[in-house]
Order: sequence, then C-alpha cells, then structure tokens
Amino acid sequence: MQPFEPQPSDQAGRQADPYAQQGGWVPAQNTPAASYAQQYTSGSYPSAPPAAYPAPYGSYPGVPVPPAPPQRQPRGLSPFGLPARHSWEIPMLVVVVVLTAFAYLIALVLLATGNFDQYVLAFAAAPLLLWFGRGVNYASQRVNGVKMSPTQFPEGYQMVVDAAARFGMAKVPDAYVVLGNGQINAFASGHGFRRYVVVYSDLFEIGGAAREPDALAFIIGHEVGHIAAGHTSYWRQLGMFLVPFLPIVGNSLIRAQEYTADNHGFCNRHTGASAAMGTLAAGKYMNRLVGFDEMADRAAVEKGFFVWMVNALSSHPVLTWRMWALRDRSRHGKLFLRPAPPAGAGVPAGGYASSYGQVPASPPKSAL
Ligand SMILES: [Zn+2]
Repeated sequence: MQPFEPQPSDQAGRQADPYAQQGGWVPAQNTPAASYAQQYTSGSYPSAPPAAYPAPYGSYPGVPVPPAPPQRQPRGLSPFGLPARHSWEIPMLVVVVVLTAFAYLIALVLLATGNFDQYVLAFAAAPLLLWFGRGVNYASQRVNGVKMSPTQFPEGYQMVVDAAARFGMAKVPDAYVVLGNGQINAFASGHGFRRYVVVYSDLFEIGGAAREPDALAFIIGHEVGHIAAGHTSYWRQLGMFLVPFLPIVGNSLIRAQEYTADNHGFCNRHTGASAAMGTLAAGKYMNRLVGFDEMADRAAVEKGFFVWMVNALSSHPVLTWRMWALRDRSRHGKLFLRPAPPAGAGVPAGGYASSYGQVPASPPKSAL
C-alpha cells in the first residue's frame, strides 16, 4: 500500500486480523470477561454463539450431555475478539482510590486545624490542580500539534478511527502528531468530555507515513485502548492522585493499566506487537534487528532482586516481561514475579514455537 493511499474506511484494521471474525470465547454471561466485553461490544461484532456446538464427548442414551467447556481461541486475552482488562487492574485501583481518599481526608483535617504546610495545601487543591493541568496539556496539543485528519497524516487518522470502532467507542478521540525529536513515544489523555491521543512524529518516518504501519497500528490501539478502558477519565485520575507517593503499589496499578492497553493494541493489530516492542527496545531504525522471541525468552531467564526491583519501580512493565505477555496470550502479564513457562514445559531450543506464542515467531531480520 502506498504511503498516502487511504486505507479502506471500515476494514483496514480487521483485514489484518485473521481471528477477528472467529469470536473468542463461548459466551459465559456471568463471567467478568463477559461483563467487560459487554461494555465495549459494538453492533458489528458477534456476541451470540453459533446455533449449535458439537457435543464434546458424544452422547449416550439417558446420559445428559455436559455443556461444552469454554472454548478459547488462540487470541487468549481477547474474549469476543475484544481486549481484556488486566485481572489486577480493578483490585489495585480500589486500593489506590481508598488510600487517596484517606490521604485527602487527612489533608482536609490538617487544613481545618490550621496546618497550612505547602504539601497539605497542594493535596487539598488536587481537584483544581488536576483540572488545570489537563486543560493546559490539551490546549498545548490544540495549538502546537498537527491534528490528524483525512488530509494530514491520513494513515494515522484512519488507524485511530478503526481502533475506536474496534473497541466500540461512541466517539472517535482527537489525535495529534507532535515533534518527537528522535523520541519514540505516544500518550492519551483528556479534558472535560474530550479525549485525545498524541503520537510523536518519529513514529511516522517516511513523509507522514509509518515506517512500520503495523507497529503504529499497535501503538495507536494501545493509546486508544487507554481511553476505551477509562484510564484518561478525570475522576479516575483524581482517585489516583496519590500514585506518585506510592512507589510500589502505585506503579503496580500503572503497570496493570499498561498491560490492559497492550491487550487493546494486540487486539487492534496483533501483527504489530513485535515491531512495536522492537521499536521501543532499539528505536525506529534498528527495530528490525530485535529478535522478539529471543528478547521475550529472557524474561524467564533474567532473575534476581534487582531485576525484581527495576520492574517494581517502573511505570511500564519491563520490556522483556511485556514482550512475554504479548507472546503468551493465555494469561495476564506479570506484575511482580518474572514469568515462567507453563508447568512441564521446558524452553525449546530456539525459543518457544508459535504454537505457544501467538505473535508469529519473528527471528532477527536482516537489516540489508
Ligand atoms: Zn500506555
């Protein structure tokens, strides 16, 4: 596809996804996965099972046939073809919100008793400070960012539209490109009822088109996923105001959110997961030298207290663990303890075959 050729308006993301029309789970209406999926289900995705499933064990006269167990497609953490929220995200959020509310009450009590310490004042003013900061951040994009549109960065614009449709969002977020100056980054935020995505220009490398379109679609899916999962809400961020003062607990919640967003990115364009991680690891030019499987394998090998600590203090899961989670779609990414292969499974020579990892095995590519 030529760099400036607009992608088909409603199918670009889905065509790249061979699992999109296969459903994901046999519906189990009372499971958390089902309730989460219902929030994001749009009319265009199948939410009902096929009319009949084959009896798994055959049937015998007089013996009731047990219901079919949940059948999981290779997409793993994408029930109904929709992304799953990390299992630890909501429990951690509850803990952080309770701690934040408690700290806020203490600040109010201290103020009422005449303590005008600057930290107490700052904390008591948190609702205002957050509102102000979000307003300034949004305004910066509105006056300095290049707003993606059908005529400006049309490829990225279409990816945002597709990702929003894919996640069943009622409104497409605004999207801006800002000068990256060599940095690889993107983020999502909001102000009031508005939501937006910001992508650094280095992710568009060739005349406004992505050097790695699949990687960009994964990254845009990740950022739009933050919005779809509610991470950019004012009230949520206010409830998490204490996060910078909670090094282990706070960062763990942020990491769980990142895994959730990665699940969205994977759902949006799973074929871009390895290139996106390679770009984060080695940059936009050398990403093709990164062996996704080779690096992911090290998640289970690198061990020790300091490895644990670097991850525990990070806002994003460390790259090797993140790659592991994107490859092993059968379970959620690890927050505290390094991942391990399934019980009884040794590490095969040359890493895990594609039957275990769901991102197609991607050996180091030649740079030539
Ligand atoms: Zn993120």
